[in-house]
Formats: sequence, C-alpha cells, structure tokens
Amino acid sequence: MAEAKLIDGKAFAAGLRSRVAEGVAALVAEGVARPGLATVLVGADPASEVYVRSKGKTAAEIGMASFDHRLPAETTQAQLLELIGRLNADPAVSGILVQLPLPRHIDTTQILLAVDPAKDVDGFHPINVGRLGAIAAGAPLDFPVPCTPLGCSMLLADALGSLAGKNAVVLGRSTLVGRPVAQLLLRADCTVTIGHSRTRDLAALCRTADILVVAIGKPELVKGDWIKPGAAVIDVGINRVPGAEGKTKLVGDVAFAEAMKVAGHITPVPGGVGPMTVACLMYNTLQAARRAAGLPFVAV
Ligand code: NAD
Repeated sequence: MAEAKLIDGKAFAAGLRSRVAEGVAALVAEGVARPGLATVLVGADPASEVYVRSKGKTAAEIGMASFDHRLPAETTQAQLLELIGRLNADPAVSGILVQLPLPRHIDTTQILLAVDPAKDVDGFHPINVGRLGAIAAGAPLDFPVPCTPLGCSMLLADALGSLAGKNAVVLGRSTLVGRPVAQLLLRADCTVTIGHSRTRDLAALCRTADILVVAIGKPELVKGDWIKPGAAVIDVGINRVPGAEGKTKLVGDVAFAEAMKVAGHITPVPGGVGPMTVACLMYNTLQAARRAAGLPFVAV
C-alpha cells in the first residue's frame, strides 16, 4: 500500500520565516519602525527558557528587534502588571509574549487581560479569542490568532488546497490548541467535530475524518485503524517517552508508523507542527507591526 505523504512542517516554517523576514525588510524600507517582539519569562522553568530563547533568536534572525525580560520566580503580580503596562506603552514593542505557565501565585487570566490586544501575538487575550470565535467563513484573519493552531491550518491549506466541505475531527478542546484549531477549520468551511476525554468511541469518530487534528498529549493514542484511508492527519502532540539506551525520545499523539500506511498526508513528530509555532509567532508580530503603522493586513 502507498505510504502517506509527509507534511514537512520544518521546511514550510523555514519558508514562512523567510517570507516574514522579507515583510520586515519591506516595512523598514518604507521607513516604518522595525517590528519588535518582547518576551517575558517569570522564573527558570528549563522548557520555558528553551522556548523563550528560540523565540528571541528567531526574531533577531528575521530582522526584528527582540526584548528579553527575565523576572525572578518571586516576582509579584503587581510587578508583572507594571512591566506589561510599560511594554504596552512602548512604540518599539509590536508584540508581547508572556511565556506560560506562570508561577502559581500569579493570576494568569489577569496577566493575559492586561496585554494590549493589538500586541497580543499569542492570540490569548479574550478579545482575540472572541474575534476568532465569531469569525465568518473566509473572513480575513486580521487579528492575532494562536500560533500553533494557525500553523496547523497553514499546513493543511498548503497540503490540500481548499478544505471546503471536508469532515474535520479535532481531538482536544484546550483553549490553546483544540478550540482555536476547530474555529479555523470552520472558517475554512469544514464540517467540524471536537472529540475530547469524555467522547464515546473516539476511534469511530476519527474514522469519519477527512482531516484529523490531534492535540491531546497522550503518546500514540490514535492508532492506524482509527484513520480513514487517505485522510490528512495533523499531530500536534509532543510527548517524551523512554527511547533506546536509556534516552528519551519525542513521539506524537498518533501511532506514526501505523498511520503512515493509511493516511494520505501526515505530519511527523518532531518536524511537523512544532516548528510552525515560532514561525507563526513571527508572522503575528509582523502583522501587529503593520497594523500599528496603519498598514493593511497582508497574507505572506
Ligand atoms: P491540554 O492538556 O490543555 O488539553 C488536552 C485535551 O485533550 C483536553 O481537551 C482533553 O479533553 C483532551 N484529552 C485528554 N485525554 C484524552 C483522551 N484520552 N482522549 C481524548 N481526548 C483527550 O493540552 P494542549 O495544551 O492542548 O496540548 C496538547 C498536546 O499538544 C500536548 O502534547 C502538547 O505538548 C502539544 N502542543 C504542541 C505544540 C506545538 O508547538 N507543536 C503547542 C502546544 C501544545
């Protein structure tokens, strides 16, 4: 049997980053201030440090200014709010990313609410969540959209072209991934069903999917025989499991080797959705800088 085509998120993300870099250069050539991304990290969580470093590095590589704010774990809510207020008011800052999770003593909702929605390049401010929830089919995404879901929808559009009329199943209903993915697929005229931890017979639901997006955080839960032959499978999961020689390895939420034999298209883990997240953050930051300068939205 033919194997699924690999959706190469690493290559697509590299292309997106270079198109964003061209967009940055074009803005600067027009005399607009260089777009700037501010990252805010509270505490020293090692995974968060890796993410923040990669976001700052990528911003610099594509010609944006980057402002790296590291605060100690004992930072108070008031101190963090004060920093966000300063970043909101700073014209050199086009986008603000507050790395989650925040320490327990900080009220994450209040922090996300404090970020200016125009600079909310993660798309987590309730105003932007509401805009995505209310978006009409095909309407432009001229506001910040959560990066990982945006990356999933770009990869699907690139692999399949029009998604109109397709049955899409999204596994996972988190506000960061599953729900916004479902909204983006509705906007693309799919018929969307969301499955989650209380869904009865997930396997049968998945078999109805022309497009299956899995974002649940359970290693290789989705088996090959859950997949409709020829379906496009987007695996958002990132799970660390024991590998060879006592090392750990990364696997997705889909049993990749089995799924390869059934699906029409599939994203690998790593190298699928993962690299899209940071590239889409840069895309959102460029769009925020354009809007701040009164320039129209451009799809890149
Ligand atoms: P989450 O824990 O917030 O949400 C998980 C969702 O999966 C929930 O809605 C839950 O109902 C559902 N779920 C849990 N167990 C289930 C089961 N057995 N059957 C069906 N549904 C089940 O997680 P999240 O933040 O949405 O992330 C999901 C996965 O995506 C994680 O592996 C995470 O590491 C990964 N992720 C990857 C990226 C990336 O850049 N590629 C970004 C964000 C998250």
